[in-house]
Amino acid sequence: MFLSHKNHGVYLDYAATTPVSPAVHAAMEPYFHEIFANPSSLHIPGQKAQNAVDEARARVAELIGASWKEAFFTPSATESINLALRGAVQTAKHRGIPNPHVITTNIEHSAVLKTIRALEAEGTEATFLPADNEGLVSAQQVKEALRENTVLVSVMYVNNEIGTVQPIKEIAKTISAYRQSRIANSNQQSAISNRPIFHTDAVQAANYLPLAVDRLGVDMMTLSGHKIYGPKGVGLLYKKEAVDLTPIVTGGEQERGLHAGTENVPAIVGFSAALEDAEELKESERQRVSALRDMLIDGVLRESETVTLNGSRRERVANNANFCFKNKSSEALLPQFDKAGIFLSGGSACTARVPEPSHVIAALGKKEEAKNAVRLSLGRHTTKKDVKKAVQVIREFAQ
Ligand code: PLP
Repeated sequence: MFLSHKNHGVYLDYAATTPVSPAVHAAMEPYFHEIFANPSSLHIPGQKAQNAVDEARARVAELIGASWKEAFFTPSATESINLALRGAVQTAKHRGIPNPHVITTNIEHSAVLKTIRALEAEGTEATFLPADNEGLVSAQQVKEALRENTVLVSVMYVNNEIGTVQPIKEIAKTISAYRQSRIANSNQQSAISNRPIFHTDAVQAANYLPLAVDRLGVDMMTLSGHKIYGPKGVGLLYKKEAVDLTPIVTGGEQERGLHAGTENVPAIVGFSAALEDAEELKESERQRVSALRDMLIDGVLRESETVTLNGSRRERVANNANFCFKNKSSEALLPQFDKAGIFLSGGSACTARVPEPSHVIAALGKKEEAKNAVRLSLGRHTTKKDVKKAVQVIREFAQ
């Protein structure tokens, strides 16, 4: 198989995307040829397709501790994020807040950063909280940034480049306490009780960290199918019932009017099957993969003085390692890794074709090294042998 060695190399880019698992593939299969009808069609085949979407929604909602009414399928996490951010800001504007304020971090995925930059150009005020040199932001930073007109806070659960895990629960508690204090000091309870809304991009957290939305305390959460051994072309937006969003894609009444466009039934079924497996495997995979990650990080740092680790050692997702090479750019290193049969990323996959230094590494105070970063992300098929090979190759390149 391509994913493990056998002369084909070692795939260490699971944060970019994962292969569709055979079980997920099998679950999707009937929905290409047999149950292919449009879920909006009223005939029996259409109803069967609609049932599949309904069942997938109910299952996904249950897995994240939500109601089916709070789970919305979209064509990607990027679209979920756009809907969450633009939708919340639009609704605030409709409700008479002409200059809504949003808070985020300076190390978000471009789906969040660029969306907020675009909103800024349309009059939204934005605060980009600076992460510390390990890539962490704190609930205190969020607290200090909150304003009367803050309508939305969006903080990623796990960073896609350096794997830092943010204190989502504490941030949620801070926001909740702030809301309570505003309600206590106001007589127009209903208008402000939901503000600000808290969204988290949980795309890179889903395989290894708890997703129960009530325990996390989030109002909105985004997931992606292709990062959890499901198909590409499907994302999820969890949205608390009390949160009102303005749709950004208009057209048909799919997804209860929140996202128009005929549903991608096989992908939605695949997403649900993938999330189910991810939940089942979460604890065992977290333990297995984090042991491999530690072996990788320790193996590299022990021998290679010219290589440093980016991100936090403690608050780090199970499958991420990210290193900077002294005086060697990732642009120069990537083809060499390819030749050596190690498939990894420089920075994140989405910016892989843009020869710009990583904004995440730069945000850690490593402006000079930001172009020298490589990310190795482990997954279900990663073995000890793969890790040993990666360590050996990195040591060679570091000399
Ligand atoms: N957010 C994070 C943290 C990601 O890593 C990614 C994908 O790289 C996305 C959002 C976008 O996901 P999608 O490819 O489903 O649009």
